[in-house]
Amino acid sequence: MDTLAWMDAALQKAEESLREGEVPVGCLFVYNNEAIATGNNTVNETCNATRHAEINCIDQVLRFCKEKQLEHETVFRNLDVIVTVEPCIMCVSALLQLRVRSIVYGCANDRFGGCTSVLEVPNFYDPKITIQGNVKADEAMKLLKNFYKGTNPNAPESKVKKGRKSKGILLTDNN
Ligand SMILES: [Zn+2]
Repeated sequence: MDTLAWMDAALQKAEESLREGEVPVGCLFVYNNEAIATGNNTVNETCNATRHAEINCIDQVLRFCKEKQLEHETVFRNLDVIVTVEPCIMCVSALLQLRVRSIVYGCANDRFGGCTSVLEVPNFYDPKITIQGNVKADEAMKLLKNFYKGTNPNAPESKVKKGRKSKGILLTDNN
């Protein structure tokens, strides 16, 4: 799998997200060398705090499996997740329960990261899956910084001004 090329595509998705006023996180689910799901956050659009990029992709895979009459259990176990930001605790739990083959992410998520940053969720699951971070992290982080700089009308203002700061990046609870 050409991880870097897939990450470029995920970053493009994150950029689209930024333009639409959502937290710039982009995600692809790759199965048999094909992106069968591409997603970004739709938390603001749907007013639903659980609509993270990964969850949107999970729904797309379920639809894909229904259309192609494939068993989703098998498809999830053979797919690789490419996401620009470390999945949060909710998303990584969902991905582990679906037993995806691997997760590749860009920058760390200091406030909600479920791979290593806040909690090592994979420790609660067996069997272990491959998780690789820090792939084009700078580019992913740059998009987040643009969003939280407040140039975006949907960035939560109070948190931009008063939010907790960690390692120079602000994340709110819609990541
Ligand atoms: Zn998430």
